[in-house]
Amino acid sequence: MLKVDNIYKSYVGSGVVTQVLNGVSLEVNRGEFVCLLGRSGSGKSTLLNIMSSLLDADKGDIIYMDQTFRGMKRCETDRFRREEAAMIFQFHHLMPYMTAFENVMLPFLSGLRPAGKEQKTSAYEALAKVGLAGKEKRLPSQLSGGEQQRVAIARAIVGKPAILFADEPTGSLDKANGDAVMKILSDLNKEGLTVVMVTHQRDYAEYAHKVVELSDGNVDSIKVKSA
Ligand code: ADP
Ligand code: MG
Repeated sequence: MLKVDNIYKSYVGSGVVTQVLNGVSLEVNRGEFVCLLGRSGSGKSTLLNIMSSLLDADKGDIIYMDQTFRGMKRCETDRFRREEAAMIFQFHHLMPYMTAFENVMLPFLSGLRPAGKEQKTSAYEALAKVGLAGKEKRLPSQLSGGEQQRVAIARAIVGKPAILFADEPTGSLDKANGDAVMKILSDLNKEGLTVVMVTHQRDYAEYAHKVVELSDGNVDSIKVKSA
């Protein structure tokens, strides 16, 4: 589904070049749960941002369903991010003055037409899926950290993406809330969502079919769990 082919990336700042990725290759199959593991600074976020087309590589290609990002026009990568992909991060990035429901409706509000009944139903369904039925009218400040992250997940999946990119989604949560988030991601994956998750928490690699270990900008190992 998504192929990472020999990716190189460096950052240049005040005359210093930091080589972050040195020829990284891996494949994500449809329906897979892939975990990118590695120490802080090993290039996980950089790789994930390149895989989701937020960031350009210096060299190498990302191929999504037989099309390279490099060959895509800007509007095509925009479409990829809008219609195929979704993202969640360590911090939930919810709008503080909008309710849980309004936050989940946000992806629909950028359209030209006002959101309709169908989209409202999708938003209620997405919140129910993450266990927040009945809390739709709460503001983020009236929810726990774990619940806030679940609203962010609902907002990510409301448009029915094919692939979800998650960067340390449990990074700011305690164990119980982290476990709950992992359970939700795992359930969504079982329903067909492809998941690519970055973490440095080795325990959570248990949920993945494929564990890619990064170190010093290279793939150290790829372990595939047999079914
Ligand atoms: P990880 O997510 O594994 O912690 P990152 O991909 O965030 O790693 O960062 C890898 C390396 O690249 C780190 O050394 C970091 O300091 C550096 N880096 C990340 N983003 C930038 C940037 N925008 N400019 C300069 N250096 C960066
Ligand atoms: Mg990171």
